[in-house]
Amino acid sequence: MRPAFIAAALDAARRRGTDGDRVRDREWKLQTRFRTLEETGSSARGVSYGARVEGDSGPSGVIEAEGDATMPDFGFSSDEEQFRAEVREFAERVLGPLRKVWDQERQYPVEQMQKLLESGLPERAREIGRSNVLRGIFAEEVARVDFNCVYPLLPLWAGPGGSMEGMGLPPQMAEQVARGEKLQALAITEAGTGSDAGHVGATAVRDGDDWVLNGEKNSVSTLNADYFVVFARTGPVEEGARGVSGFLVTRDSPGVTTSEPLADMGNRATPRGVLTLKNVRVAASNQLSGAGMKTSGFEHIGRILDTNRAIIGLICLGAAAASVEETVAYARERVLFGRPISVNQGVAFPLVEASTLMEAARLLCYKALWMADQGMRHTTEGAMIKWWVPRLAGDVIRECIVLRGHLGYTEALPLEQRLRDVLGWEIGDGTPQICKLVVARSLFGRDAAPL
Ligand SMILES: Cc1cc2nc3c(=O)[nH]c(=O)nc-3n(C[C@H](O)[C@H](O)[C@H](O)COP(=O)(O)OP(=O)(O)OC[C@H]3O[C@@H](n4cnc5c(N)ncnc54)[C@H](O)[C@@H]3O)c2cc1C
Repeated sequence: MRPAFIAAALDAARRRGTDGDRVRDREWKLQTRFRTLEETGSSARGVSYGARVEGDSGPSGVIEAEGDATMPDFGFSSDEEQFRAEVREFAERVLGPLRKVWDQERQYPVEQMQKLLESGLPERAREIGRSNVLRGIFAEEVARVDFNCVYPLLPLWAGPGGSMEGMGLPPQMAEQVARGEKLQALAITEAGTGSDAGHVGATAVRDGDDWVLNGEKNSVSTLNADYFVVFARTGPVEEGARGVSGFLVTRDSPGVTTSEPLADMGNRATPRGVLTLKNVRVAASNQLSGAGMKTSGFEHIGRILDTNRAIIGLICLGAAAASVEETVAYARERVLFGRPISVNQGVAFPLVEASTLMEAARLLCYKALWMADQGMRHTTEGAMIKWWVPRLAGDVIRECIVLRGHLGYTEALPLEQRLRDVLGWEIGDGTPQICKLVVARSLFGRDAAPL
């Protein structure tokens, strides 16, 4: 039997003119998920977010439904809770004692990558499944201990079939990245075009069986990478985003050079800088998206950024949550005017407000990752997270600095480092302004919010 809310979602999608194949495909997925939930005794909980048809530009989220079908199931499975506990234990034991090292010495945590691989956690994650939700758990827990280690350690447990497949690397190379043998990086941003990624100036021109790439990417994180996923123009400028394609460029290709790392104020463990391509030949088999391929270059970029934005949200929230916990403990113990400072509402309420907003932000991040695991489009959710959550985390950490008094302003506490680190992610992977434009498109339509 097809539950009424699934029928309602599909009918609404048809009325909005969504492509018939997409509707049928989504119906199959929703029915399958509904049956699974019934079999596990979960009633219709958790299905409501699924009741949206991919590619359908209509409103997302809650739809008319029977009973409690609009009430999503927010819980983690016992495997996921266990995984969280194991990651926390690993982070506190292995990363905790060295906190600050990677920041102060601008070191890439190579040894810690090896230790993560030896811990068996990446294999555990693959066995459990729901790879994006697990990546989020991993990111959140590591960031609580040391923000600087998250970005380098993240790719290690997402090979073929895992979420980093979104980078589009061929399976063999994705597997090397997941084994820690190779590093990968994303190269979109250029000095001349910045946020306007649809008009990148780097070019790729077909020459026999190869593409020849020229251009300069001025803000590549993991500049020490072996594999660069580079976006370049294969069509005329007038084609805008439609003329952009993705390529795999290996570091050892003739014509590839990298600059000295930029002197970043935060995220110092991950070198960021300029990648220059001069007549770099890329085999046609290393074209990943765009010209003549099923996935356009811009869809490829979107697939990477939409999910990454939810992960970035959780990294920032991990750092903010640790800051709030430490500040609550301090406020309980710090006695002034004959009583703990926590009894003053001026101290307690900012922490109450922070906890409330962080809880809401966290749910949005996990919702987006859950959608990614269902194969659902989550562009709007990713953009909502990206404009809001790094900013929220920065505001919370700043509040904690003030509540810790003068020591909060020193390197003796981790707060100043966290503030520097989260600030970078207000900009990286899309500025708040650009992300708000993406959300505006979902409200007003593409024409009302041109990008
Ligand atoms: C920590 C960090 C890591 C990064 N990692 C990578 C990476 O790995 N790969 C990569 O390719 N890039 C990376 N970036 C670059 C990042 O994605 C860009 O900095 C960002 O997209 C903005 O581009 P821009 O710096 O050229 O600023 P600009 O595009 O020049 O923007 C300047 C300002 O104008 C605003 N603005 C621009 N257009 C509009 C508009 N239409 N409406 C309103 N406001 C607008 C922007 O929001 C911004 O505030 C990273 C950046 C940081 C800080």
